[in-house]
Amino acid sequence: MENYGDLIQKQRSFFTSGKTRDVLFRMEVLTKLRTVIKKHEQELMDALKADLNKSEFDAYLTEIGILLEEIRFTMKHLKKWAKPRKVKSSLAQVGSKSYIYPEPYGVALIIAPWNYPFQLAIAPLIGAIAAGNCAILKPSELTPQTSALLSKMISSHFPEEYISVVEGNAETSTALLNEKVDYIFFTGSVPVGKIIMEAASKNLTPVTLELGGKSPCIVHEDANLKLAAKRIAWGKYINAGQTCVAPDYLYVHSRVKEEFLKELKLAIHELYGENPIESGHFTRIVSEKHFSRLAKFLINGTITHGGRHEISSLSIEPTVLGNITWNDEVMQDEIFGPILPVLEYDDLSKMIGEVTARPKPLALYIFTESEDVQNEILSSISFGGGCINDTVYHLSSPYLPFGGVGESGIGAYHGKGSFDVFSHEKSILKQTTRFDLPFRYPTTKDALKKLRFFIK
Ligand code: NAD
Repeated sequence: MENYGDLIQKQRSFFTSGKTRDVLFRMEVLTKLRTVIKKHEQELMDALKADLNKSEFDAYLTEIGILLEEIRFTMKHLKKWAKPRKVKSSLAQVGSKSYIYPEPYGVALIIAPWNYPFQLAIAPLIGAIAAGNCAILKPSELTPQTSALLSKMISSHFPEEYISVVEGNAETSTALLNEKVDYIFFTGSVPVGKIIMEAASKNLTPVTLELGGKSPCIVHEDANLKLAAKRIAWGKYINAGQTCVAPDYLYVHSRVKEEFLKELKLAIHELYGENPIESGHFTRIVSEKHFSRLAKFLINGTITHGGRHEISSLSIEPTVLGNITWNDEVMQDEIFGPILPVLEYDDLSKMIGEVTARPKPLALYIFTESEDVQNEILSSISFGGGCINDTVYHLSSPYLPFGGVGESGIGAYHGKGSFDVFSHEKSILKQTTRFDLPFRYPTTKDALKKLRFFIK
């Protein structure tokens, strides 16, 4: 197993030099990162095509454009975020002033998955840079072209003692985790998230865990069915369902189920055409192992739409499964593919009970015109975040911190959230030397009485 102690030591020395504490330096680095991404745009699209058959439109929307916007937003606000913030002082602290100083942790380790292999490595990196950290990126081994390009882009524009990419598999991750770093930001599956947290606990290293799970999508009887169908088809099948916040399964009110499924078929057809596999634009499944796992689900329930799959191109077309129950295999774990099982419900609270009996989802989507239904679901189900009358879109707002809760993750990022994740908030009380309040000292006359006057 490789030893990454030297690399981490180099980064720690660079961090200790204080260079990354300079906010202007961070701004320059973000500007450079933006230029580097733009310069390699076509190469990135080609790599994503080779690794996952991503279309150029999807690559720009979900891997490149989203990062350019994140950099723009971060640069616009960074000077303000990085400044010490003055906060109130309580009466008992009269004479003093209170401040919060955001400070970088030091060396951050970012471990990324394969589904959005560029975005999910660089989005945390933007936060790490903005907050003044050094960073080591470990991209996924399952998207080798993108990971190699990422490594080339970083190594040819940034010194390794500041930002470095280490390519490799689980063994490489393990070797990195054997070293002490100052922060670990992990995006990936729940089982590996547990391994990361265990490794982090050895050094009490703080972690952010961006994980996954089964995200429900609820279609109530009063929903705008046509619009719901289109927005669900988009959110589910983009990237062939290999999206952490994709609707994992549908819960449709029985009164509108048939009509909704008709609309869903039309929407899938409108967005992906007659034969998505032959179109050449539909994202493929990342590996044969993942393909075989997904293909097994096609015998669950009945196929109400799609179902064609082709091992030679690792493609599965947008598929809808009817007659599904919670006992089916497809309902046991996160699907992470273009297969959408449909459950139905009559009773809202019973349906809510089924969802809350399971791990807290990363995302949840509600399609309804009724504010009462929206409020009932929002107040009774805990989940990372989501949308009302849409899917996936919440993820792209820099104003909405993105992350899970319970088994779907710990911590949240994007926008200021990313700066905060990679910053320790150092609380400082600046005391006056003009006077010294006596009541804090037990030797003062009537100390307790005076103390009670200030602290009631
Ligand atoms: P994964 O957990 O298998 O791998 C993620 C990373 O961890 C990879 O870099 C991999 O090399 C590394 N890794 C794998 N096994 C390891 C081990 N034993 N020890 C240390 N490191 C190890 O996840 P994946 O298959 O790449 O991604 C899919 C999962 O990620 C899904 O569950 C999905 O929901 C989740 N995900 C979550 C988000 C989010 O933002 N919450 C985003 C994308 C994907």
